[in-house]
Amino acid sequence: MTLEQTLPICIAGTWRLGGGERYATCYPATGEPVAWLNAASLDDVEAAVQGAHQAFLHSGWAQRKPHERATVLYRIAGLIRERAEELAQLQRQDNGKPIGETRALVASAAGTFQFFAAACETLEETITPSRGDFVSMSVYEPMGVVAAITPWNSPIASEAQKVAPALAGGNAVVIKPAEITPLLALQLARICEEAGLPKGLLSVLPGKGSVLGDALTRHPLVKRVSFTGGTRTGKHIAHIAADKMMPVSLELGGKSPTIVLDDADLDHAVAGVLYGIFSSSGEACIAGSRLFVARPLYEPFMARLTAAAAQLRVGDPADERTQMGPLISAAHRESVERYVALGLAEGGRLRLGGERPAGGVFDQGYFYPPTILEGLGNHQQVCQEEIFGPVLVAMPFDNEEALITQANDSLYALAAGIWSRDYKRAWALGRKLQAGTVWINTYKQFSISTPFGGWRDSGLGREKGRLGILQYMEQKSLYWGMNDQPLAWAGLETGQ
Ligand code: NDP
Repeated sequence: MTLEQTLPICIAGTWRLGGGERYATCYPATGEPVAWLNAASLDDVEAAVQGAHQAFLHSGWAQRKPHERATVLYRIAGLIRERAEELAQLQRQDNGKPIGETRALVASAAGTFQFFAAACETLEETITPSRGDFVSMSVYEPMGVVAAITPWNSPIASEAQKVAPALAGGNAVVIKPAEITPLLALQLARICEEAGLPKGLLSVLPGKGSVLGDALTRHPLVKRVSFTGGTRTGKHIAHIAADKMMPVSLELGGKSPTIVLDDADLDHAVAGVLYGIFSSSGEACIAGSRLFVARPLYEPFMARLTAAAAQLRVGDPADERTQMGPLISAAHRESVERYVALGLAEGGRLRLGGERPAGGVFDQGYFYPPTILEGLGNHQQVCQEEIFGPVLVAMPFDNEEALITQANDSLYALAAGIWSRDYKRAWALGRKLQAGTVWINTYKQFSISTPFGGWRDSGLGREKGRLGILQYMEQKSLYWGMNDQPLAWAGLETGQ
């Protein structure tokens, strides 16, 4: 790939230039272009969906036995692993995450394909207890064309979580990656093709979500949308889906509480809180962005946390030691800055950060330092809205009842963290927190075999887990008559 080239995109089994405007994807650490490509046009959306529909009907993918589909998915996992370093470096440039993180995301994408290959070939359909002279069964059928709409913060891992189960379920997929991070989705399409996925079964449409993602969602041949992104966009998609009576899964935003109880192991808690909010520069739906600390511990804990946060290595994402890279774009950094200014206007105080770093690499990219605000109440805007950056709001709490009320007082309910040495206390609290995932004495740890998703404004449906394939399949009941006689109701004589 050279910078002069305009990258082709993958539409209905053909690699060609998109029909939309030419644009560059940029490396957030320098603002320099990484690649040029033409966005897809609305005609390309039509071609991709029609091509996917034809591939679904005629490629034989849906009719292959599960273990045959699994063979291709295992190959995709293998090819991702073979190219892991190349993919991780490309992703670092595409979205500016430190190389250590992009390597982990690539590894997770390979693991996702492997997991859903295994889930696919071991998925069982059931014979249900019969209540008459018949055998009754519950089976699953592919849906057809599925749309996968993904955000910019974890390319390839997000796509894998949708594409792998959808393909495992026998469907065709059209990916709409974030406009500014399309490169990994395109690479994934190349790998799928090389692994033997039938042509046309997977297309990738880079470009504006408000145009392409919207058209894709509305398309009558699209039978399901799996979306990860902001809550506002998710609700928009849900409205369209309601009109089409189309199932959707929505992985949306968060404002997750992390709670340090007075019996917490402080070394573990400091490390976990730091990782929870500042890894990925806070650009994570599950970022632990609201910190609640038991009042007697508040000062000593905050002193240790602040000192540790001040030591985090912010800088060049290509450097293996870097812990925080730049934010995704200049516009996003400005949005984070507006939130910090709002927090101060609401009466908050800066305990750490709050100012762009300057000098060297910092003058080129969209860097922002670890920032801690305190002196605010949970009801205030910076405690309620998702900032999606390295900004932690810290609050003391006096008793567990008040804590639970505040922790649950959010439109979001994606994740939560608890730090305590008392497992019974942590268990009781964990059951009372309203969140799709609760981590106890750890944070931001994932297993592809554990379902993930949010409550309330954090989303609908679950991804991952062995049964994740079923999200991309329709359930069907089959009854096989075993009667020796015609159904009695008709009152027919038999044997004449
Ligand atoms: P957006 O909702 O803006 O975008 C997500 C995707 O949707 C992008 O591909 C975008 O395209 C597309 N899109 C935008 N408008 C429409 C539309 N009208 N119809 C269909 N698709 C559309 O979110 P961000 O990209 O800003 O991502 C950050 C958000 O994602 C945060 O809120 C974060 O919490 C959430 N997120 C949730 C996760 C979870 O698993 N719960 C994981 C990661 C992130 P385009 O890029 O062109 O705008």
